[in-house]
Parts: sequence; C-alpha cells; structure tokens
Amino acid sequence: MIQLDAAFYPVKNTPMNGLMMHYPLTLDRILARAQKNFPEQEIVSRLADGSLHRYTYGEFYTRTLKLMQALRRMGVRPGDRVATFAWNSYRHMELYFAVPALGAVLHTLNIRLFPEQLVYIVNHAEDQFIFCDKSLMKPLADLAAQFKTVKQFIVIDDRSPEVGIKLKGMTDYEALIQNESAVENFLQFDENTAASMCYTSGTTGEPKGVLYSHRSIFLHAMGISMSDTLAVSGRDTILPVVPMFHVMSWGIPFAACLTGAKMVYPGSQLIGKPIAELIEHEKVTLAAGVPTIWNVLLQHLKKDKADISSLRAMVVGGSAAPPALIAAYEKEHGVQILHAWGMTETSPLGSVAQLKPYMQNWGADALLKQRAKQGKVVPLVEARIVDDAGKELAWDGKASGELQVRGPWIASSYYNMESQDAGAAFTADGWFGTGDVARIDEHGFIEITDRKKDLIKTRGEWLSSVEMENTAMAFQGVAEAAVVGRPDDVRGEAAVLFLTPLPDKKDTFDMKALHAYLSEKFAHWQVPKLVDMHIIDAIPKTSVGKFDKKVLRARL
Ligand code: AMP
Repeated sequence: MIQLDAAFYPVKNTPMNGLMMHYPLTLDRILARAQKNFPEQEIVSRLADGSLHRYTYGEFYTRTLKLMQALRRMGVRPGDRVATFAWNSYRHMELYFAVPALGAVLHTLNIRLFPEQLVYIVNHAEDQFIFCDKSLMKPLADLAAQFKTVKQFIVIDDRSPEVGIKLKGMTDYEALIQNESAVENFLQFDENTAASMCYTSGTTGEPKGVLYSHRSIFLHAMGISMSDTLAVSGRDTILPVVPMFHVMSWGIPFAACLTGAKMVYPGSQLIGKPIAELIEHEKVTLAAGVPTIWNVLLQHLKKDKADISSLRAMVVGGSAAPPALIAAYEKEHGVQILHAWGMTETSPLGSVAQLKPYMQNWGADALLKQRAKQGKVVPLVEARIVDDAGKELAWDGKASGELQVRGPWIASSYYNMESQDAGAAFTADGWFGTGDVARIDEHGFIEITDRKKDLIKTRGEWLSSVEMENTAMAFQGVAEAAVVGRPDDVRGEAAVLFLTPLPDKKDTFDMKALHAYLSEKFAHWQVPKLVDMHIIDAIPKTSVGKFDKKVLRARL
C-alpha cells in the first residue's frame, strides 16, 4: 500500500516566508482521494452482452495500482504513449489513471475515425501499446500492419463473442493484472507533465494532436465541478454517453473521482432503450452527450415510456443543442438541458448556458432563446470576439466575429506540428482562435452562429447555416436538418437544405409547408428554393457525430 503522507508531503526546510505549500496538481492525488474518502461509492458498467458490472472506488483503486505495476513490467516508461481503442467502461477508467500516474501519456483513439486517419494518428503519436476492446479487434487488426511503433496489443474482454483474431504480443487485460501486486509508491513529477492526448478530426488537413497536462486536467475537473458550470458532486450519478475517446469524455471521469460521484458507463449500447434503462435503474442525475444521442432517446421515449425524472440535467455539447430539443425535454419530461460549448483544444469545457438569477423572471420564449445559446465562459477561461483584423468586438449581441479563448486548460500549440495551418490558430498575444463565429450578448452569453468555413455568403450577406438548421428542426416532422451553400450565379452562394423526416412522416412530409415556414423566418433570398430542399435517409456524420458538410457539398 502506498504511504500517502510520505509521498505527498515531503518535509522540506523551507524558510518561514508564510507561503502556501508546493503541491503539484497531479492525477495520482485524485486517485488516492477516491480510496481514502469514498471507497464505498459505485462504478457501474454495461458490458457487450448487456450485463452490468459493478464495483466500488475502493476496488477501482486497488486494480488501478496493480495495472500500474503491470504497465511498468511491460516496459512503459515516463513519456511513452499508451493508446486505448475502447468504449466507456470501468477498465477504460482504470487506464485513465494508471497510465498518467506513471508519467506516461494516455492516447485515446477515436474508434470512429476513418482507417487512414487512424493509421496517421497512431504513427504520429508513436503509440507503443494499444488496449483494445475485444468487440473492436476486427477494425484494428485490419490496420495493425501499418502501425510503425506499436509493440503490443492488450485485449479487454468486454464479454463480446470470440473473434479468433491474433494481434502482436496479444495479452488479456485481466491476465495482466491478476497476479500483480499494487505499485508501492507514486512517482513525483511536475504538474505540467503530459497526461493524455487526443487528436481533433480536422475537417481540413491532417488530424492535430492536443496534449493535456496533469495540471490542466486537474483544474478542468475542478472547473466542471463548480456549481455555475456542471456542478459535478458526490451526490451525482453520472452517465457519460460522450465516449471516453472524445476529449477525455469531457473530463467527467476525473471530476467524478475528485468528488466521489457514482459513475455509470454505457459501453457500446448508446441508442434509446439501453440508455433509458440505465437512467431509470441507476437513478442517473447527470448525463452528457451530443444532441443526436438525446434526440434518439427523445424519440424512443415517445414509444416506450421510461422514468427519467432522476435527471437534474442533461449536458448537451459538441454541436448546437436545437431549441426544439431543449423545449421538448422540458415539456415532456421536466428535464433541463444544459447547453455547453467546447473543443478538443479546450479540454473541452469553455462555456455553459447557466442562467443568471435575474433571468428567472423572463418569459418562456426569452428563456429558451437564452438557454439555446452556448452560455457564459466558465471560471478560469477568458473569451473575446474579434473581427478579421483582430480588433476586439463589443459584447452587444450584434457584433459577430471569431471566438477566441485563453486559460489554463486551453491548448497553446498542436503536438509535433509546425505547419502554417496549425500555427494560425494561436495568436501572437496568447489567445487560441477557435474558428467558431460568435456573438456575445450584454449578459455575457456566447452564441455560436457557425464554423468560419460553414457560413454561407448569399447576396453578399452572411447566412448562418446553424440558424437555418435549428429553425428547420423546430418544424413538425423534421428529425434532422443540415444546410450547406452551393455556388449560384445570381446570389454568389445559395442555401441547400437536406433533411430526414421523423419515421412516421417519411412518406407524408410536406416540403412546401416547410418552405413556407422558413420564408416567414428568413429573408426570401436566404431561403433555399424548393428544388434545393432534399429529403435523404440520413444526414452524413463525421467520426465524432457532427453533420459532415463535406459529404453533403460533394453530393451537390
Ligand atoms: P471537437 O474538437 O471535435 O469537439 O469540435 C469542436 C467544435 O464543435 C467547436 O469548435 C464548435 O464548432 C462545435 N461545437 C461544440 N460545442 C458546440 C455547441 N454547444 N454549439 C455549437 N457548436 C459546438
């Protein structure tokens, strides 16, 4: 067992200058806190066969220390990259702590990336070990020969059927730690040491690597636990539907381990029914995921009732939360949607639409409008909007410019990348340019109107594709809608709308009525012509579940 006191508080002959202790913010401290303070709290995981695995933070702690010892024996050294290719589960959480606590870097590979991107990322990060769910071995095995630096694959038996695949140095996760003893002490290192990394799946250029440090993760975990942000606490039961391979599952596993929240990991089953069951049976209080996930759940709940009233909030981010979705959850289930904005480069939490006290008296429409904005920047993050010349713009709800942010959990550069493309995002005066176009209103609420490159310039005026998508998605019978521009001789660019109707409106959807509805809300030159409004089976999505406008443009 680790001697916490000796390891954590080295006694030094310090001069009596009255200053606070030097206490590096490293993740082993969050880990040790769990064992000392809430060893009885539960961590629940759905496995591939549908069964639930349960254990406590106490057991989690012991196993994580054994895993650290096993990793050491395998030859993992400080600075090495150890990758995961896995769904959300307790073993993934063990890796979240064991790898960084050794001073090594956890690289969470996005299982939805296109093969060429995955090969690029593994080779660029120089991953040496990959921990892989058994159910995900096939796609990895197809690419394994192209991984230049990977020495060994470790398989996580998620109770999926045997696949009969052999990978280099293949070892079973449980066999690895079974006879291992726990590490006896934590290494001491600087809080600015890299702990984990993620690549942004850029829609242009090569994917870019972002390195999170112990300090940035620690502060971000505290940041998302503040009551005006996501208010993560020991009284919560949290269901992160957002994958652990996407910006460290929005930092939730770290905040949970810091505060003692019960965790519920959904494994690979992310569609309506299994999610509804988990919320009802485990009495989930806080759930987090992209809008599509909550849209699917909403449709499911219309057919198949479940009690989701334990939820105090659903965090929605990654793409804009459509106002219709926010309103439907509130009206039909009494559940509040907390709209949050962030990026891979921002750890991710940048802003949350938590209302201010004086807004409580506003009318329903005004409140909905405010909650559908991306909200106020969270403490320790600063924001500004700038015009093309870099001049800062007013927070008046009218001026629109690029959103820039800075703070202790915002990236200062991309990993091992010097191209102009990568450098352009970081300004000479120390801000990160998000590439998002936004307004900030007089209440300090950010409203993202578009990605810079997704704006449509029609008749010399900018049209926000997001605004039109949200309006279309509020129209009866529309499940999802995406808007892109096409070249047009007269207008420069013209808007083109793609939509998928709700299942029961597939054959009867009235496009003319939608056109009339959009004509009431937008200038006539902004509204797509009827011939530019298309019904498709599904809106194509990127590997992280956002509308893939590249594919839609290519269709044109
Ligand atoms: P990623 O790094 O893949 O998480 O993508 C980050 C980008 O997703 C941001 O720059 C935004 O364009 C978009 N995004 C994230 N959250 C929101 C949100 N709440 N509303 C609108 N766009 C969002």
